[in-house]
Amino acid sequence: MDAYASFYQRSIHDRDGFWREQAQLIDWHVPPTQVCDYSKPPFARWFVGGQTNLCHNAVDRHLNDRADQPALIYVSTETGHEITYSFAQLSDEVQRMAAILQSLGVKQGDRVLIYMPMVAEAAFAMLACVRIGAIHSVVFGGFASHALASRIDDASPVLVISADAGSRGGKVVPYKPLLDEAISLSKLPPQSVLMVDRGLTPFHRVDGRDHDYAALRQQHLNARVPCVWLASEHPSYTLYTSGTTGKPKGVQRDTAGYTVALAASMQHIFVGKPGEVYFSTSDIGWVVGHSYIIYGPLIAGMATLMYEGLPTRPHGGVWWELVEKYRVTHMFSAPTAVRVLKKQDPALLSKYDISSLKALYLAGEPLDEPTAQWIADGLGKPIIDNYWQTETGWPILTVANGVQPMPSKFGSPGVPMYGFHVKLLNDHTGEELTGANEKGVVVVEGPLPPGCLQTLWGDDERFVKTYWQSVPGRWVYSTFDWGVRDADGYFYILGRTDDVINVAGHRLGTREIEESISSHPNVAEVAVVGVADQLKGQVAMAFVVAKDSSGLADAGARLKLEGEIMKLVDSQLGAVARPARVLFLSLLPKTRSGKLLRRAIQAVCERRDPGDLTTIDDPTPLQQIKDQLA
Ligand code: ATP
Ligand code: MG
Repeated sequence: MDAYASFYQRSIHDRDGFWREQAQLIDWHVPPTQVCDYSKPPFARWFVGGQTNLCHNAVDRHLNDRADQPALIYVSTETGHEITYSFAQLSDEVQRMAAILQSLGVKQGDRVLIYMPMVAEAAFAMLACVRIGAIHSVVFGGFASHALASRIDDASPVLVISADAGSRGGKVVPYKPLLDEAISLSKLPPQSVLMVDRGLTPFHRVDGRDHDYAALRQQHLNARVPCVWLASEHPSYTLYTSGTTGKPKGVQRDTAGYTVALAASMQHIFVGKPGEVYFSTSDIGWVVGHSYIIYGPLIAGMATLMYEGLPTRPHGGVWWELVEKYRVTHMFSAPTAVRVLKKQDPALLSKYDISSLKALYLAGEPLDEPTAQWIADGLGKPIIDNYWQTETGWPILTVANGVQPMPSKFGSPGVPMYGFHVKLLNDHTGEELTGANEKGVVVVEGPLPPGCLQTLWGDDERFVKTYWQSVPGRWVYSTFDWGVRDADGYFYILGRTDDVINVAGHRLGTREIEESISSHPNVAEVAVVGVADQLKGQVAMAFVVAKDSSGLADAGARLKLEGEIMKLVDSQLGAVARPARVLFLSLLPKTRSGKLLRRAIQAVCERRDPGDLTTIDDPTPLQQIKDQLA
């Protein structure tokens, strides 16, 4: 991999020269005078002195060459709605939305909170905000009023854009009552609410505060709202992390660095070209939705497919049917979604003509080998793992096939991406680990490359305190993930730094124990956490969702399965790794983004307060744990 190795080395050792070249991938109103100002570490300012606009680069820039090509393909299997917007039509809709925002008093620098289901209007709203320099803050539509209220207070938006309801599995999920409740709970209620009425459910309108999108759109049909040229560092948006390890953090992103980073990633990592079609199954409420449903593909001149619905409705092959219908070339999803598909008939993977598809990218959590193998065999396409965080905005570890075709290795997301000076540190001594197969904390030496967080919204101090460590002469950003690098330079993510269990002095990764337990034929999903123990310091506890739980109401059957699992761990890893208990749950506690809430399980086991649970999907399993431990 010589070509990539020198590309990477240049990004680290000739940082400014490298990124000056990448900056050519986007349009500038005023080109930058300085590539990177790192005079106040760990804060990095990228493309200082430049002016550009994210919406211009995603939409307007394409109007000369491909005005009539598809830009946004919207498909809802919930409502049956299916519509394709060309770049010209998308531009019209975004300008109408921008005019509406202005008519409601939104000005440059104001925050606009977007609490919406997966509807095309949500994409118009995001693009309209960045068009006029308003800072959007998308809050995942599945969150309830408490989570929403805390985000309203943090962002203090002048406007909230929402809808009457979402729909999930054919069931209408009203949004408006939750929004009204959140606003009444919040200390800084917004002046206005813009409502997209999908006609799914009636809702209460607050006079003087609530406005109707369709009526205002009618008034602004011919709106022309030019892009506002923004300084490179002007914030484009804020977005909260998933809250897996604690209170969500409000990540703040800039304008120019993010635009350049996405344009570069589309070329070097995703290898996407105008005329191709990108289908990311994420939600606009997450970072993948920001970078790779909305901005990245559009910046590259690709069409993006925005999908509302489940992967299993109306049938388990619906994604592949969409790939066939729209000639999708790139797909992006998460291991958790693939595990859902794994429960479907594998024949569905080969039922449709998916010859247009080049690769499936997966991110968000560790991709275990059985899941990767299953989907790779079923689709016959490359499966490309990529590792990153809300904070970074684009992949830290993956393969850069656009620079040089590179093999993927199962279990590894890949190698450090250009711009990320990735290192492994010994978590006790803080020393850098340079040898192969040494386990350490994955860190990035500052400055972080373009596209990463500028700071945490309104809290520079928390930004520095949370992520950064200063070692004499340099600043180091911690990912809080634990990893190892093999002799070829491929990294393996072993779990979060708080996922290490210390049993009587033996340090064990929870992921290793989980993988061992997963190999039992009746285990569908498993979580292992370390729980405080007077004698041993910590012991491992395992929480298992059985594939076939029909017999497990019977205590004897539970004991038998628990014994089998313990024996399995004994034989594969040794008795120190054997969980003290194996409890059976109907599902695992996860965030709405599908991440395992280990810290909450651990807290419940240690009879502590589980902390911030605003992002939990379903609290039932925590109750099941409490009941079983009682
Ligand atoms: P919080 O920071 O609020 O606790 P979070 O870390 O879950 O939440 P995200 O930014 O959505 O929020 O997730 C990033 C994390 O997801 C990474 O730090 C890593 O732990 C995990 N992750 C993402 N992609 C991968 C991957 N390909 N392989 C392994 N782990 C991954
Ligand atoms: Mg995190």
